[in-house]
Amino acid sequence: MTLQELVTNVGLIAAAMSLVSLVELAVPLFARGAASEGRAAANFGLTGLTLVLNWAIGGAAAALALFLSIRGGGVLAPLGLSLPVLVAISVVTLDLSTYLAHRSMHLVPLLWRAHRVHHSDPFLDVSSTLRQHPLEGLWRFLWIIVPTWMLGLPLTGVVVYRLLSVIQAVFEHANIRLWRPLDRTLSLVWVTPNMHKVHHSRARKQTDSNYGNLFACFDRGLRTFRSADEAYDVVYGLDDVDPRRAKSFAGLMALPFVRASSDSPSHALASSKNTRISRGAAKTSAPGESASMRTRSAGTSA
Ligand SMILES: [Zn+2]
Ligand SMILES: [Zn+2]
Repeated sequence: MTLQELVTNVGLIAAAMSLVSLVELAVPLFARGAASEGRAAANFGLTGLTLVLNWAIGGAAAALALFLSIRGGGVLAPLGLSLPVLVAISVVTLDLSTYLAHRSMHLVPLLWRAHRVHHSDPFLDVSSTLRQHPLEGLWRFLWIIVPTWMLGLPLTGVVVYRLLSVIQAVFEHANIRLWRPLDRTLSLVWVTPNMHKVHHSRARKQTDSNYGNLFACFDRGLRTFRSADEAYDVVYGLDDVDPRRAKSFAGLMALPFVRASSDSPSHALASSKNTRISRGAAKTSAPGESASMRTRSAGTSA
């Protein structure tokens, strides 16, 4: 990827974020409060890092896809499929691979250490989209590059998937309220904003669900789906991350290397209550009173 392509990429993502942030103003899911304040430097700092990293590794993935397509390698090569079919296969395959990459980060304590950076955000909006540690970016890259290499996916397929993926990620994290029946119906086939909000809950049984990126079928088929309706009572963040660290760029960069038990979780809940906005009347959501809130032990063991 050239520098010009990086600028175009950043421009597209910035435009998508700006547009969706206008929708956030018009139809917010939760009211902004103390939890949403003071996150901009950390979130946009990590976003900048992610964009530069994606630029570097995206170039490598594209170069590999181009090399393989010229060389005619990979499992799919002998089938002689048309480009549209190959692009469709790329999107579905890479989405399954991304699902597995995400699920592995919740299963393996060492990987969870890096993924905690994304989950520690005490509020969700468009600025949360690319809030991730560079180590997570590298792990996700492996799950793109390996199927690309094994199957011989075309460059166009990889580019289309990455584009769909980032635009979808902006919507998933946006603090927007979809009409509930629409969200519920869409979630039969597609990962909706509310589905991903459930994933950002600090209640472990909700955190370990809805790993999908584009297609809801992987969560439904692999039995990790939870209803999008649960989003309305979700409390974002992590119990075992100090709220000050959750809003600090330097603190988040160091988070994978810090034992969870060394952070103070004592203020976490108080700062993370979501205020639901419903038909013009603000209502404070229960901060997960009914949910079992377990402090995840992963990160302290590795
Ligand atoms: Zn996750
Ligand atoms: Zn997320």
